[in-house]
Amino acid sequence: LNLASAAFAISVHDTELLPAPGAPEVAFAGRSNAGKSSAINTLTGRRRLAFASKTPGRTQLINFFTLDGAAYLVDLPGYGYAGVPLEVRKHWEVLVGRYVAERESLAGVVLMMDARHPLTPLDHELLAWLAPSNRPVHVLLTKSDKLSKQAAQRTLQQTRSGLSKLHGNSTVQLFSSLKREGLSEATAKITEWVRD
Ligand code: GDP
Repeated sequence: LNLASAAFAISVHDTELLPAPGAPEVAFAGRSNAGKSSAINTLTGRRRLAFASKTPGRTQLINFFTLDGAAYLVDLPGYGYAGVPLEVRKHWEVLVGRYVAERESLAGVVLMMDARHPLTPLDHELLAWLAPSNRPVHVLLTKSDKLSKQAAQRTLQQTRSGLSKLHGNSTVQLFSSLKREGLSEATAKITEWVRD
């Protein structure tokens, strides 16, 4: 799987408009400002791939990027923007909730959480949508460079333990786009999902 081959394919604002399920999809989700765009750009080696999709408080889109036709990288709209209108929040719930709960071709979800405050209420909500299908979740504890080595390890253990109670089929790692740490572990997980 060549993450560097990522090329924009399609945007949808409604689950009715999703392309017919085909190649396996790896979706990226996370609270706004968790470092999702940076992680996508770091993992694909493309500086601005994901930044076009930032739409705080506006129409929310699911963006599909093709990976050499072998798989899709799917950028889900961020959540938890301050002061977002209720109708936008509702739209996110329907769009993302349906996608993660029902999408047949979804191979796994990479969930970004700021290492300084993991497992927010909206992260819980997303995990609850995923739980019934038991689809795999891989958490990136982002911006790990902002923590000391010791604090990062403590957060890793605590999040692993908290997460295992919410979603059995889950894994978690430290990640830093700034320091380029955790890239090979994340890439290996994505490749494993797409291969299975
Ligand atoms: P998104 O809203 O989830 O897409 O988050 P962004 O990728 O835009 O990142 C939000 C903020 O966190 C930006 O100011 C980034 O520069 C910063 N950021 C992202 N990743 C890292 C990281 O690995 N280390 C540090 N120190 N800052 C980061």
